[in-house]
Amino acid sequence: MIYLDNAATTKPASCLNELFSHYCTHTWQNPSALYLPAIRVEQKINAARELLKKIIHAPEAIFTSCGTEASNTIIFNGWQKHGASKMHFITSAYEHPCVYECFRLLEQQGHRVDFIKPGKSGIISPQSVAELVCDNTALVSIMHVNNETGAINDICAIANAVKEKNPQTLFYSDGVQAYLRIPFDMMSSKIDYYTASAHKIHGLKGTGILFFKKNVPLKAFLLGGGQEKTLRSGTENTFGILCFAEAAKDFLSNHEQKIAHMAALKKRLYELLKKANGAVCISPANAAPHILNMAFEGMRGEVLLHLLEKDGIYIATGSACSSKKRSFRVHESIGLSPVLSECAVRFSVCPDNTIEEIEYTAEKTISALQKFQGFIRR
Ligand code: PLP
Repeated sequence: MIYLDNAATTKPASCLNELFSHYCTHTWQNPSALYLPAIRVEQKINAARELLKKIIHAPEAIFTSCGTEASNTIIFNGWQKHGASKMHFITSAYEHPCVYECFRLLEQQGHRVDFIKPGKSGIISPQSVAELVCDNTALVSIMHVNNETGAINDICAIANAVKEKNPQTLFYSDGVQAYLRIPFDMMSSKIDYYTASAHKIHGLKGTGILFFKKNVPLKAFLLGGGQEKTLRSGTENTFGILCFAEAAKDFLSNHEQKIAHMAALKKRLYELLKKANGAVCISPANAAPHILNMAFEGMRGEVLLHLLEKDGIYIATGSACSSKKRSFRVHESIGLSPVLSECAVRFSVCPDNTIEEIEYTAEKTISALQKFQGFIRR
């Protein structure tokens, strides 16, 4: 199998196997209990938290069930308490659905929401955000790396521009595709909230983390036993959390080489595919090292996906979570025509992919195009 859908999820790191048997034998007690073995579990959770915080110098963090829950917690943050009952929000039109759909709901509830389109550059400029900020802008949410195109937004510059206009406005960035792949220092930035998800960095599905600055408003989304400093009730997903930290530790070993390797794989794939008939690169030039989004005119993305699947190569047409209700919202926001959007595919690599896999993928893509390009539904 050649797995090139690492933006959808990553294979759990092999070092987690050993952790599993250790966890089942020694680290399974409820971390909220009062006896010593449980306290040790709690300590391990806190050590995992510290490790994950340190990577981006985040002041505070709580664990959640996924990146989606972390985004929902921030966006549905009890805004009525912080000012007028109707607030203003700014986000981008190409956010992941876990952000986009929350803002759509806030809009339906009567709040005002601006959805900024990045346009052809694929990147949100600080000016385009700052010019919309007003006195009652409660929250601005701009993603760090776009999950479909790999576009990297300069979130520190955007946050600076926002706070210059209104220091009371809070700033969130969805870092799920960026964490451990793009350098980021939360402490020195004006970013109030940032999120990541374990399964995107070779951890397990079902564990997310919400990083936040001290003293920013944060209202519990799940109520109950008061775990996670009362901010996220529910018995902690201990195994998922420990695996999250272990996967991050593993990713950090030879980190620079891993990032350079992913960038080299992506570059090679692009070099080979740009010569293909009707090739259009959708990813911006300086996109994240793991994501390459391209379209091949006259070949539907879904058809190419299934042709490659026959050769054991797994790619995506877009975001995995929207594949069942395919939407071209992201492509539309960067000015891509609906016809070309239908032809888009996403290749996303991880450090375990090899140059041979990439060359084989390019060869099979080109031969699929030669055989089937042009047979497109009109
Ligand atoms: N944000 C981005 C940019 C993503 O790519 C994803 C997952 O695809 C999420 C958020 C949601 O993360 P999770 O799957 O942990 O809910």
